[in-house]
Amino acid sequence: MTKGKVAIMSNQQESSFAAKEKLTTLLKAADYTIDQNDPEIIISIGGDGTFLSAFHMFDHKLNHVRFLGVHTGHLGFYTDWRDFELEELVSNLSNDEHPPVSYPLLDVQVKDRYQTQPQRFLALNEATIKRATRTMVADVYIKDEIFERFRGDGLSVSTPTGSTAYNKSVGGAVLHPRINAFQLAEIASLNNRVFRTLGSPIIISDSEWLTVHLEESSDYLVTIDRFTIQHDEIEWLSFKIADERVHFASYRHMHFWHRVKDAFIGEI
Ligand code: NAP
Ligand code: MN
Repeated sequence: MTKGKVAIMSNQQESSFAAKEKLTTLLKAADYTIDQNDPEIIISIGGDGTFLSAFHMFDHKLNHVRFLGVHTGHLGFYTDWRDFELEELVSNLSNDEHPPVSYPLLDVQVKDRYQTQPQRFLALNEATIKRATRTMVADVYIKDEIFERFRGDGLSVSTPTGSTAYNKSVGGAVLHPRINAFQLAEIASLNNRVFRTLGSPIIISDSEWLTVHLEESSDYLVTIDRFTIQHDEIEWLSFKIADERVHFASYRHMHFWHRVKDAFIGEI
């Protein structure tokens, strides 16, 4: 009797290939089927970046799959298992006693001049909008009400688990992933007597949404996690907490703040 279908996604590191090979053998011995196309469980081997790629490969069927991350480098935010713990990982998977864990995602819509319908994306870390050559001028709306007129390099909108990634580099707050909310952070805003933005990151609840209307539409880069979308004629973008969530298999409980300390502070 087969236990379930597992896909394994790894990065190009030698140690990740080795872990993939070993894990494949262990999973088969435990009656799992390796199915790279239609899995129930997706195991990523590498770093957080590898996990992001694995996530996007299956982001159209999030209600039917569970993810698990093995790290071959430093401890990650989406990767719980080390590559020397693969036996334990497989036996944990077989009698999964871990409480179900899922994290919020960001629903991103991008509307350009030519399409009648906006394009929809899901972000696990964040979405950013940046202007490459000139100042980005945009009206920021919260729940369809104008909040501020932004001038600067761009804006970052992140999930709680993405708050430790790009968001943190641009001065955003680190948000515990049990908080079902998303965050807007400014990237180099222009502030003087004429141009005013709030100047600090804001955290937006799951019952609210954010819309960014661009004054001019050329020269914009939109990023969704690892991916960049080049769009010449963007009119607006909107952001809210998605209905979908990312679900984990055999999630190793680790105190979120411990993970943050481990990643950014180390021993004191
Ligand atoms: P990358 O340039 O290899 O990643 C940048 C670093 O961010 C890597 O060390 C990566 O960890 C780490 N990272 C990814 N997600 C994280 C998270 N949720 N919390 C804490 N650290 C995280 O690119 P990548 O591996 O494809 O990752 C894409 C992400 O990188 C983007 O979503 C963005 O958040 C972030 N990024 C940050 C900056 C910046 O801080 N200035 C610039 C570009 C992109 P691993 O080594 O484990 O992969
Ligand atoms: Mn990476």
